[in-house]
Amino acid sequence: MVLVFIDHDGKKPKKGGLEAITRAREVAGALGVSVAGLVVGSGIGEVAEEAKKYVDTLYVVDAPEFADYTAEKWTAAAHAAAQKAGAKAVVAPASRTGRTWTARLAARLDAGLLEDVLELEPSADAVVAKRYTFLNRVLEKQKAAYPVVISVKPNTAPLAEPKGEGQVEALEVALGELEQKVKVLEKIQEEKKRVSLTEAPVVVTGGRGMGSAEAFKLVEELADLLGGAVGATRAVVDAGWRPYAEQVGQTGKTVQPNLYIALGVSGAVQHQAGMNKSKVVVAVNKDPDAPIFKETDYGIVGDVRQVLPAMIEAVKKLKD
Ligand SMILES: Cc1cc2nc3c(=O)[nH]c(=O)nc-3n(C[C@H](O)[C@H](O)[C@H](O)COP(=O)(O)OP(=O)(O)OC[C@H]3O[C@@H](n4cnc5c(N)ncnc54)[C@H](O)[C@@H]3O)c2cc1C
Repeated sequence: MVLVFIDHDGKKPKKGGLEAITRAREVAGALGVSVAGLVVGSGIGEVAEEAKKYVDTLYVVDAPEFADYTAEKWTAAAHAAAQKAGAKAVVAPASRTGRTWTARLAARLDAGLLEDVLELEPSADAVVAKRYTFLNRVLEKQKAAYPVVISVKPNTAPLAEPKGEGQVEALEVALGELEQKVKVLEKIQEEKKRVSLTEAPVVVTGGRGMGSAEAFKLVEELADLLGGAVGATRAVVDAGWRPYAEQVGQTGKTVQPNLYIALGVSGAVQHQAGMNKSKVVVAVNKDPDAPIFKETDYGIVGDVRQVLPAMIEAVKKLKD
């Protein structure tokens, strides 16, 4: 079997989980085996009901000790599920947490580790993965024989569709001394006004062409009107106009929204690496030869100071 770890928000699988399922199905297809899923948490009955629609078997670790994430506990849960499934491959999202426990799991299973993968070419004997390396300047291919642990770079795989009703199996995980070493004492939730950048259906990104930090008020306004998130280029982040958390690109976040609006963005390759999987791209730039126009479905040659207020007005009218 191939085991896939399904990240969730307490109710349903997260985008990263659905992307990991897509990659797990590719590996399972090459091996001619079925896909088992794993969900971990406390009080996650609703998640399990949803998640079972994507896999042949779903292992559920649902216990109060798993209310808070620690890498040690998640490794123990994934290890137990991998052994139960006799998994030749374990696939998980390369989320902030996924990156920490997958390495531990690979060590425990004495398996290969393919981290932060963009694409996979699985065969019956090995998996070849495409990934960035050297500060994202180089694209490389890595090959690992089975057993292998794979983490999937967010927003690089299509979302899996449900395909039936998998069998649900509760899994008990015994926690030893190692798993009790780290305890979560307190959690502080960041107050978020907007949807998260990596999950937003619409991303409105401002580049250096916006001219100032203040001008981003209009970028925020358009993003809010469209129910989207604000993105920024590295030039903007370096200038201190926006936080690094909003940077899109090779050394920032990878996004894959339905609509990506680039305002005063030149479209450097390093920026494109983070947004070129967007479904529809709209760009506004005063330079008709700006590289961003090679990536766009709809390009507007003009000054953002004129075009952006007009776009905001047009969207407001559509909403009325
Ligand atoms: C290793 C490495 C990693 C990198 N990682 C990233 C990354 O993750 N993300 C990223 O974004 N960059 C990254 N960069 C930087 C990248 O190469 C570019 O420098 C950066 O993306 C440029 O940002 P920009 O488009 O905002 O600015 P510029 O390149 O300065 O472009 C500004 C654009 O705005 C247009 N413009 C100016 N005024 C107006 C106006 N009034 N109206 C309309 N258009 C206007 C201009 O014509 C121009 O095209 C990386 C670079 C390296 C070397």
